[in-house]
Amino acid sequence: MAAKHLANCIFCKIIKGDIPSYKLIETEFSFSFLDIGPLSRGHALVIPKYHAQKLHELPDEYLADAMPIAKKIVLALGEGAENYNILQNNGRLAHQEVDHVHFHVIPKPNAEEGLI
Ligand code: 5GP
Ligand code: ZN
Repeated sequence: MAAKHLANCIFCKIIKGDIPSYKLIETEFSFSFLDIGPLSRGHALVIPKYHAQKLHELPDEYLADAMPIAKKIVLALGEGAENYNILQNNGRLAHQEVDHVHFHVIPKPNAEEGLI
């Protein structure tokens, strides 16, 4: 399915380059970059180049492209990849703040930094 963007979505703007980001990996279907408020060093986001708020609204080709990118980011962390969380929130009650599907890659290098 063709890429779909929403004009006032901050992640769609990041994909288009209208908002700057620290880009990591980009493919035909996905874009990944560092989180602006990292929970630990290397906290990254993987987003589809298709505006959908929630995971179940995303076409499969976009969904399928995202996880290999998360895996590449984890592998690039090297030793830091021993402990990490992959997180994806859907809806306000589930702590989604940005209404464009995104997968968090959150390294957990020690007890203090990271998710929990
Ligand atoms: P959520 O709570 O929706 O799962 O997570 C949204 C994430 O997007 C947060 O971790 C937040 O720091 C990140 N974020 C929000 N706005 C921006 C931005 O403009 N640039 C970047 N790089 N990250 C953002
Ligand atoms: Zn969007």
